[in-house]
Order: sequence, then structure tokens, then C-alpha cells
Amino acid sequence: MTNDISHLSVLACFAHPDDEGFASGGLLAKLVAGGARVTLVCATNGDIGEISDPSLATPENLWRVRKQELRNAMAVTGITDLRFLDYRDSGMVGWDDNNHPNAYCNADSDAVISLLANAIAEVNAHVVLTHDPSGGYGHPDHKTMSDHATAAVQQVSDPDGFTPLLYYVCFPRGVFQRWWQEMLDRGIEPPFAVDAIDSLGTPDDEVTTTVDVSAHVDTKIASLKCHRTQISDDGPFFQLPPDIMAGLMGAEYYQLAAPTGATDLLATL
Ligand SMILES: [Zn+2]
Repeated sequence: MTNDISHLSVLACFAHPDDEGFASGGLLAKLVAGGARVTLVCATNGDIGEISDPSLATPENLWRVRKQELRNAMAVTGITDLRFLDYRDSGMVGWDDNNHPNAYCNADSDAVISLLANAIAEVNAHVVLTHDPSGGYGHPDHKTMSDHATAAVQQVSDPDGFTPLLYYVCFPRGVFQRWWQEMLDRGIEPPFAVDAIDSLGTPDDEVTTTVDVSAHVDTKIASLKCHRTQISDDGPFFQLPPDIMAGLMGAEYYQLAAPTGATDLLATL
């Protein structure tokens, strides 16, 4: 840790339980370890996600199980300020779930933006983290949260005063491709199905910031493993060789989206 970050306040805004872990689990652990205040807002309860093991949940109670999984994950990471917005998972584009009245993609935008703006002001957030505008892989809930968080930051930003830094989480295409190729070269079947490795993830030139989270990989993995319905403890992802795991998990990537020309605070951690 090069800087004292104990004065920092960070608001992380994600769509589903587990989004926080893959996108920024290492950064969240690093912030907590440095004494920063971290607040996590989760828009939906991941109601229609997969169920890795039928003994863990049913389609009817998955939403409740996933809320508890996120509570458990945040207990591991050390985040006590966890806020659920309790919208319903909208599913992927074209699913019937898009039409559910409580689906997050149908939320009253002004209400959510106002809620997030109030949260930013309440915790005096120096940094707001959220999904990138494309939603990573295009999930409507990720896009919606990105739009809402971006608008909330704009709403509270005062050019002459308090202006939080807005960061989008990134999954750089070049990094994906490098590790994908490494797995293939070593005869390891990549643990995620990718039919478009050349278009997956964030274009490399949109990534502004790399954060070294190598000292927090154990916490990141332990926290991720709390999302038991989503990622199986003995599944292929966690069976990857330690060096590949460390490479995949030890750095996180962000885009400083606003304000223009601001000092890149995450780059100094
Ligand atoms: Zn998600």
C-alpha cells in the first residue's frame, strides 16, 4: 500500500450478487484492508440465475439464497454496509422476465438515480464503481445499473466542489485472449464458453487503470466462493493451475469515466 486510504469512501453499484466479486473483488478487499469505507449497492437478487447444485436452492427461493450468499461474501471481504434495492433480475434480452413488473430494467429510473445520488452524498463517496455502459456481456441489468450510477454521479457533481470519480469495471480483451491462449497451449479447457474471443470484453484502449490486487487474491477467491449457487467450489474454474488463477485474479482493470482530466486515484493504490 503506497498511500494512506483510510479516509476514502467508495460506493460500488452492481446489478447482481456475484458481479462485485468477478469485477472488483480484489479492489474491494484492498480498500477494506486499507481502512477505506466501502458501501455495496446490489440492484437485484439474481432471481433467475443458475443453480449449481439443486440442494442449495430452488428457482422459487433462489433470490433469498443469493441475498444470503452476498451477505456471506461481504462478511469475508469485510464490507458491512450492504444495500439491496430488491429489484427482480431481468434476465437476458428477449426473455419473458424482461416484462416482469419488478424487473430492474423496468425500474423507475428517476427513483433509482435519486436513491444512488443520496447514497453518494450520504457516504461522501470519493469513488463510484459500476458496470461499463455495454454491460460487460450485454446484460440488461448491468447496462441499467451503469446508466443509473452514471446519472447519479452527474447529478451530485459540482464543478466547483464535490465531484466523485466514476469508474467502470473492465475485462480487457487482450488479457482474456492471453489467458485463453495460455490455457489452450497447456491443454487446459478454458472454464468458460467463449465463441467470440476476438470480440469479448473491453477494448484494450478503453482501459485506463490497472490495480494490483495480488496481495488480496485469497480473500477475493474466498468471497467469490460464497456465491455457491453460481460457481461450484469444485468446478473447473477453481481447478485452474495456481499460476493461471493468480494471473487471472491478481489484477483488476477499470476505466476512469468521469470527470475528464481527473487524477486517477485507483492507479495510485
Ligand atoms: Zn450480473
